[in-house]
Amino acid sequence: MIIIKEFIVGADIGGTWIRVSLCTSDLKEENIITKVAQTPKDNEFSISNTVISLITQLLIENNIDKEQVLGIGLASAGPLDAETGEVFNNANLGFKEIPLKKPIQERFPGVPIYLINDGNASVLGVHYFEASDDEKDNLVYITVSTGIGGGVICNGHLLLGKDGNAAEIGHGIVNRQSNFQCNCGAYGCWEVYSSATGVKNLALDAIKTTKLSSKILMYMIDNDESKITAKEIFQAKRGGDKFSKSVIEQCIFYIKVGVGLVNNYYDCTSIYFGGAMMKDHDLILPPVIEQFNTDPVLFTINHPPKIKVTKFLDAIGVMGALTLVKYKLEGNPIIP
Ligand SMILES: [Zn+2]
Repeated sequence: MIIIKEFIVGADIGGTWIRVSLCTSDLKEENIITKVAQTPKDNEFSISNTVISLITQLLIENNIDKEQVLGIGLASAGPLDAETGEVFNNANLGFKEIPLKKPIQERFPGVPIYLINDGNASVLGVHYFEASDDEKDNLVYITVSTGIGGGVICNGHLLLGKDGNAAEIGHGIVNRQSNFQCNCGAYGCWEVYSSATGVKNLALDAIKTTKLSSKILMYMIDNDESKITAKEIFQAKRGGDKFSKSVIEQCIFYIKVGVGLVNNYYDCTSIYFGGAMMKDHDLILPPVIEQFNTDPVLFTINHPPKIKVTKFLDAIGVMGALTLVKYKLEGNPIIP
């Protein structure tokens, strides 16, 4: 038996949860151990403190010394500055500037720390753990959750951009005349229609004027519109609620628009979807797949991509953070 004495660490920092994983340096899926905590918003250092504490717990519980850690990968909701190691202007993390790399580096001196945005991390995770050989060189990951984010591998290279924020696909504007304002300040971004926040807002906007029956939805929320979230709307649709069905149809239409734009820009072989809203992928993706298999021309000029769901769901971000460390350490040409 070979005993591996070297480890890598990954962290995925989201608006609601922080996940930290430890794995042997061979990065075998069965060797990943994970801890999860709620994202604290007390002050700008509380996120890095939580990451440090989860890493420390994992090391202590598994009898591992700091010296055995080859590298730490940090995947965070962006936008971020890969140079300074800070997150800035994030609508969900609570502070204008959040230092991540520096405080963690102070606790783990000498250990290389790599920072990447969560969409870019996730596409690396799909690349290593899930994609088939023919998909790897032109691969896109799209997360549909509170917002919409993405990561793109094109011609075998991860696209990072000047600050590390390439592929902010959720803020592509899909409706110039829109009355819906996005968290970013613009109107009509893709994520104001197709994210979980978007589905909720579409419903709140339409419920006052709808002629479709929303009886099932209203029963589920005790007639209290403030209780509507995407989750209830998908549940109500499953129960036959006509209003919820029409809201989801709008969301799906804009997913087709978004997928078409992504395919026009990146000419990808496959798109993998993930994120919390993909718990309902059986209601969302079949019509999108059908559209791109049979009649893609209204949405994309390029050959259509294959459309899939990541089997790792919520874990793909932290798996991507681990992959980032592996690829950096081995000098993999996918990432500079
Ligand atoms: Zn936006």
